[in-house]
Amino acid sequence: RRSYSALAKGGPSIAGVGDIIAVASGKGGVGKSTTAVNIAVALSKEFKLKVGLLDADIYGPSIPTMMNLHAKPEVSEDMKMIPTENHGVRCMSIGFLVDKDAPIVWRGPMVMSALEKMTRGVAWGNLDVLVVDMPPGTGDAQLSMSQRLRLSGALIVSTPQDIALIDARRGANMFRKVQVPILGLVENMSCFKCPKCGENSYIFGEGGAKRTAEEMDMKLLGEIPLEIGIRTCSDEGKPIVISSPNSASAQAYIHVAEKV
Ligand code: ADP
Repeated sequence: RRSYSALAKGGPSIAGVGDIIAVASGKGGVGKSTTAVNIAVALSKEFKLKVGLLDADIYGPSIPTMMNLHAKPEVSEDMKMIPTENHGVRCMSIGFLVDKDAPIVWRGPMVMSALEKMTRGVAWGNLDVLVVDMPPGTGDAQLSMSQRLRLSGALIVSTPQDIALIDARRGANMFRKVQVPILGLVENMSCFKCPKCGENSYIFGEGGAKRTAEEMDMKLLGEIPLEIGIRTCSDEGKPIVISSPNSASAQAYIHVAEKV
């Protein structure tokens, strides 16, 4: 795989970490975290890379559930948090540090300081790739993350629906503004194949991401179907690329991982 770190823009790099790849979306609920998790696991399992996964979605951390990790991180001698590991991926999430049901009611500066601790205050060790599950949208936290981290590239996740794609364009334009290379667009919930009759239903519309990718001069890196297995595997903390690696959905994620 090609390393992008030479092209990286933004703040200083993290010692020992090669490429930092942001997985972003304009809107919440489009499958950004599910994509980040499956890509991270695929990079580790299929491509034998040393991979970290940072859950920067401070207000809605999903990584503890999706990676089945719930322990509080230990602290190293040099006072860094030691990431917890599952499925071959070292993870850090605010969800490891706060009570599961407690609302996170922080204002901007506290979010920034938490993100700083969760990036540079972590004993990541040597990593080929750190995948960052970004907060949804194009607010302060997203912009700061793009400027404070040395991002090698960003992956934009969207459903084919216009309302999601409009925000995906905003996300892409934000990265362009801060000169972070856009690796491409991933269309999630592309189509639903009925398990009974086998017919394809384009619940969120058809071809929307392809058109947007062309208009925005981005690559369409993959189309992930809307599938019950993707959701159940995530909920069980065993991403589909691990639990059913030969399924069409897992292969779709693996193909995206191959391109990042
Ligand atoms: P986001 O990070 O964009 O908020 P999530 O990755 O948390 O979105 O996904 C939202 C919900 O949709 C989760 O319950 C997840 O399991 C489910 N989901 C995501 N992608 C798919 C898919 N392709 N097929 C089925 N369910 C999906």
